[in-house]
Amino acid sequence: MLRLWGLGGVGEIGGNKLLLEGGDSGVFLDFGVSMSVKRRFFSLHLRPRTPTYLSLYLMTGVIPRLGGIYREDLLRIDSPASSILDKAPKPRVDACIVSHAHIDHYGHVSLLSPNIPIYMGSTTHLLIKHRQETSSQRELEGQVLHYRDVEDNVEEERRVATFRTGDKIRLGGFTIRPIHVDHSIPASYGFVIEWGGQTIAYTGDFRMHGPKSELTWDFVEEARGVDALLVEGTRIGEVERVEERDVERDLDKWVKSHEGKLVSIMVSEMDFDRLQTVIRVAEENGRSLILPVKVMKMLESLKTAQGIKVPSLGDNVSVLLDRRGSGRYDIERDYRGWMRKTLQQLHDKGVELISGPRISKNQSKYILVLSRPESITELAWIKPEPGSPLILSTSEPHNEEQEIEREKLMNWAALLGLKVLKCHASGHAEQGSILRLISEIGAKTIIPIHTEDEELFSKLVSTHMPGSRMMRIGGTQPIITLG
Ligand SMILES: [Zn+2]
Repeated sequence: MLRLWGLGGVGEIGGNKLLLEGGDSGVFLDFGVSMSVKRRFFSLHLRPRTPTYLSLYLMTGVIPRLGGIYREDLLRIDSPASSILDKAPKPRVDACIVSHAHIDHYGHVSLLSPNIPIYMGSTTHLLIKHRQETSSQRELEGQVLHYRDVEDNVEEERRVATFRTGDKIRLGGFTIRPIHVDHSIPASYGFVIEWGGQTIAYTGDFRMHGPKSELTWDFVEEARGVDALLVEGTRIGEVERVEERDVERDLDKWVKSHEGKLVSIMVSEMDFDRLQTVIRVAEENGRSLILPVKVMKMLESLKTAQGIKVPSLGDNVSVLLDRRGSGRYDIERDYRGWMRKTLQQLHDKGVELISGPRISKNQSKYILVLSRPESITELAWIKPEPGSPLILSTSEPHNEEQEIEREKLMNWAALLGLKVLKCHASGHAEQGSILRLISEIGAKTIIPIHTEDEELFSKLVSTHMPGSRMMRIGGTQPIITLG
């Protein structure tokens, strides 16, 4: 009997934690952070301390109540967590498979027992490593590839195996085949899983309008005719389809119409496709690109990834020096840790490092990429000419916290006299593409995940795919039997 446990990412966007159980084998499909639940109880200033992480997260439902899956060192110092889990089910878990390097899909691997091996794409490994190396906080929840035992304070490596499209992973009675899909981060995967003659496909996060949409079509081919399909429906309620080339057209138009002014663009750090678009637009318009050091470091590490082509940046790129420490932009004195090391390496390679005052003198020459909201304060030093564009090329805020963050950004833009423009192509498929994927795969059973609108999903599937059965998971029915 094949059973699916919906422990996260059901009835919510992100936080995917699905347990597929066949006979005495079990595999987690993702173990992400349930942002929607976490946000209800915790914030930057209201969060658990090391000995209370598990108990507070279990109490509030941020992580599922399952025995035998969490870090033993944390359980030993958190007795309330152990008592909560005493009576909890203890399924066998052979491994956790990570679909891609977004926190809502892999973040809470940090709390899993190191006895559970983790599987991820080789470039996903590289991206998570990059994030771990460049994050300033050494928090428990960042400890994915390594973890520090809280009792003996020794850093240990997790058991991580990497895969590529076309590999066959055998775990217990399962055979799992990862197949790439197009999403807003490189190395995103869907999976076709076989157990006891039954097949199930899991899309991970996907889109069909991105520059690499053929990857999603490869997944569709491999998944065709599976018994059950676990499909993400983030944008099931949206019909608008903006493609990357639409973003490129807008960016190009705006750079051209703001001759003589500094162009600043806000881009998500790991949105590699968007970075490529910005690089092309800069080149076509004869502007030099200024990147945040973190983004430059990521591009440098992606150069070592198989199957990913990082555009050559040549002399056309420089790296922004944030104003820190003494305020004199002295690499040795003002920057620390990975940042100092990276800046030094880039400097040795001949990459230009550029400070705000220097950008200020030559505004029309540059496109400045910003990847974090707080980077807007750098513009206070650069002093862009009034009416200079600030292009927001990230997803729209979709929760209260992000709304507040956006409001602050808009206040800064107003204070600095910037003109705010927006263009973005989503990492997720819109309604038409989701339905197309479902009908092409033609599974007998369809299970929606990663969506807040299962009602609409149900309605659309029953109208467009009358031959398929829709199964919902979560709420009062957290475990369903397949086949
Ligand atoms: Zn994602």
